[in-house]
Amino acid sequence: MARVRLEHVTKRYDDQGEIVTAVDDMNLDIDHGEFICFVGPSGCGKSTTMETIAGLTIPTEGEVHIGDREVTNLPPKDRGIAMVFQNIALFPHMDVYDNISFGLRLRDYPQDEIDRRVERAADIVQLEGMLDRMPDEMSGGQRQRVAIARAIVREPDVFLMDEPLANLDAKLKVHMRTELQRLHKELDTTIIYVTHDQEEAMTLSDRIAVLNSGSLQQIDPPLTCYNEPDNLFVAGFIGSPSMNFISGTVGESAIETPNFSLAFDPATVEGLGVGDEVTIGIRPEDIYPGEFRNEIRDPSSLISARVDILEPMGDEIFAYMLLAEGETSMDQKQTTNNQLLMSIEPDSEIQEEEDIEVAIDRRNVHIFDSATGDALVHKLEPVGSDTGVTGREAESDD
Ligand code: ADP
Repeated sequence: MARVRLEHVTKRYDDQGEIVTAVDDMNLDIDHGEFICFVGPSGCGKSTTMETIAGLTIPTEGEVHIGDREVTNLPPKDRGIAMVFQNIALFPHMDVYDNISFGLRLRDYPQDEIDRRVERAADIVQLEGMLDRMPDEMSGGQRQRVAIARAIVREPDVFLMDEPLANLDAKLKVHMRTELQRLHKELDTTIIYVTHDQEEAMTLSDRIAVLNSGSLQQIDPPLTCYNEPDNLFVAGFIGSPSMNFISGTVGESAIETPNFSLAFDPATVEGLGVGDEVTIGIRPEDIYPGEFRNEIRDPSSLISARVDILEPMGDEIFAYMLLAEGETSMDQKQTTNNQLLMSIEPDSEIQEEEDIEVAIDRRNVHIFDSATGDALVHKLEPVGSDTGVTGREAESDD
């Protein structure tokens, strides 16, 4: 059973006298057979974390366990792992069979065992019939499959993959993603996969580990990271296009923003009080043009906005909107609070420059503590149909 555990792993580099903390007190417990993606922006510590598991880097502090062994200081070859990297280094003068079997031949495996393993691996990655091809006779995707087969023949307890699809074109990437999922099912091994692409992480993983600045932000199934992000970083990183963030101030019975009030009872969150600064998070797909308001189960009254730019995507349109500014102080006007991105139906007749009214679905509104970034609420209780959000215009109509 190849469970992988990191206990308080920290990796610091001395970069010409300046100490860089690449990984900061990382704790991870990955079950046997799990497909885990490390995701986060460039430089957040994904590769370094992976390298401590691979044995390519020895942590400054902490322990790495694979299966029931502590492996912190063991060399890569003694860890029961196999790696696949972004840059596929195949031997150009060897055919596919020789490339896949190279490691086994080096270790003097008996010929019939080598044949058995190569055949099985070629079958799994669908390279049967291509074993005598040379690398320059193959496509990028086929070469990447050779690299994966080379890892499979080692029969590792854990696969470590660092951006293995990064160099493939978009269509091939989607195809290889499906292949990796099939591979994972067939092999029943643990796969740890590094990517900066949140979409890749969403589609592949059992759980996503979101990293930022060397620290683990959240490790949860993809939909939990999407629907219940632990903090502003995860909320902004997972989901494309990103969640809208609007800062506001907690009032007696609402969160006040320069453009609208969102009905909210501060007593529902322990420790939260009137005057506290919060950030409201709303995904683009949870905003609706006013004319659809009756179809939302918890309609709120409307927020006035001007459509700035429309981006047709085929199956949806992204509408970038500017919110009407209302009665704001100079301070509030200086924030970027007045932008909102809405995803709408492709047949919508909304035009650029049009003044429209939008509603938000309270069931998917997130509230974060602006100071710490921590999530406070992921779902607002429904309120009467006209009291959820009070637009400035709606108020003045009363
Ligand atoms: P990611 O894989 O998420 O892009 P890395 O793990 O490669 O991030 O790097 C994390 C941080 O550690 C970065 O700031 C990077 O510059 C630094 N770093 C990585 N390796 C070294 C090294 N060998 N020497 C100095 N700094 C390094």
